[in-house]
Amino acid sequence: MTDKRTDKPKPNPVVLPDDACPTCGATMRVQKSTLGLPINGEEILVPDAPHLGCPTCGEVVLRLEDAQRLREAAIAQYRTAHRLFAGHEIRALRDHHGLTQGELAQLLRLGANTLSRWESGRNVQSASMDVLLHLLRDVPGTLEYLRRQVA
Ligand SMILES: [Zn+2]
Repeated sequence: MTDKRTDKPKPNPVVLPDDACPTCGATMRVQKSTLGLPINGEEILVPDAPHLGCPTCGEVVLRLEDAQRLREAAIAQYRTAHRLFAGHEIRALRDHHGLTQGELAQLLRLGANTLSRWESGRNVQSASMDVLLHLLRDVPGTLEYLRRQVA
């Protein structure tokens, strides 16, 4: 798609270096401090989270890798706080039952990529879905029951 309006040069474009503050233009510094991120609606505070900080106006900017690390750290803390399975525990449970990610996703009626995200730490299961995973680990016959439900 071409939009003729975007082909026109804009007058007086602003050029900023990558480490310039988007608010005031001062040079930002790499720093670490506690940052908050909502996980399943709950604010999780992650200590020592790296980011760019503006010494002049206090603006905080997350680089892409900062944002990914912050999210993964917040998810790990959330899982610990709520005693949810860690990603590697979900994978071990799935391997124990000889299920692929797709097969377990079908049994639990999840999207195709959901288990991949849980196991890698890019996303986290809800507390109620975690209960189902615990049933699958701790209650004999659960796998057979789930299989009958989708048959
Ligand atoms: Zn600034």
